Amino acid sequence: MIINFGSINADLVYQVPHMPRPGETLLALDHAKHLGGKGLNQSVAVARAGGYLRHVGCVGKGDSWINAQISAAGIDKTHILETDTPTGHAIIYVDPDAENEIVIFSGANQCLTMDMVRAALDGLNGADHWVLFQNETNLTADIARYAKDHGFKIAYSAAPFSPELAADLLPLTDLLVVNETEAAELADTCGGTVDDIKVPMLLVTLGAKGCWLRSDNGTLHQDAFAVQAVDTTGAGDTFLGSFLAQYDAHSDAAQALRYAAAASALQVTKHGAANAIPPYQDVIDFLKEHAQ
Ligand code: ADP
Repeated sequence: MIINFGSINADLVYQVPHMPRPGETLLALDHAKHLGGKGLNQSVAVARAGGYLRHVGCVGKGDSWINAQISAAGIDKTHILETDTPTGHAIIYVDPDAENEIVIFSGANQCLTMDMVRAALDGLNGADHWVLFQNETNLTADIARYAKDHGFKIAYSAAPFSPELAADLLPLTDLLVVNETEAAELADTCGGTVDDIKVPMLLVTLGAKGCWLRSDNGTLHQDAFAVQAVDTTGAGDTFLGSFLAQYDAHSDAAQALRYAAAASALQVTKHGAANAIPPYQDVIDFLKEHAQ
């Protein structure tokens, strides 16, 4: 199972003719509101890839929109707490090249408690499960420490990126997932090259250039599938959630990378983040069509 201590946001998405410049007031071309948050996106990706999932997070009390969205996404709410602090949200600009800029208000995502951590983990045999977290909630270091002490495998999606925080958590991390820019920054902090990032598994995603995964078994490369991208928001989350679900189920890293590349390729062809993550059968059909 994957126990994801994850942020939950309302994503307010604005299609813009270009990214606003300092001091500029810009008319948006379109607007939409979607379920999002790195954590929730990753959970939806895990669930759609057929993984066993427990999502642990917080939303604002009485926020019926977010509760309805979480239910519609098929995420169990047993470990989702309602708090007096409002639900987190993200303001997302998407330009005609499908590039994005994002500003986040954390809100309830900073309200996780150790009681929630214990309720989610106690009673499980750690070695059988992955604990996943990102940098969008509070308590990341405490979650990592508690999970490590109880034998869980730890997957860390180190975004929004802080090289110091990531470097601190590396000794506890089994699988670190970063994009190309984050990998370069972290390498600088750790000693100069990616070889200095000492974790058992390092997954670096490279956007339309694919990704690589370094582990004790060597380095695997996975190309991205060529698609017409319209919105890359959540591509990395889709990739990680899909990869982890498949890897947890089959322990075959190459197969899991290929599944994740297909899932995220399909995801970038649609607008939105969580809602654009394809169901399992669509990914399998896509892989059949693109068999080499
Ligand atoms: P992040 O969103 O964290 O920056 P990336 O942009 O590296 O992550 O994307 C994660 C994965 O999503 C890539 O490794 C790739 O498989 C897939 N992906 C991203 N952009 C595209 C694209 N334009 N076309 C096809 N696949 C893509």
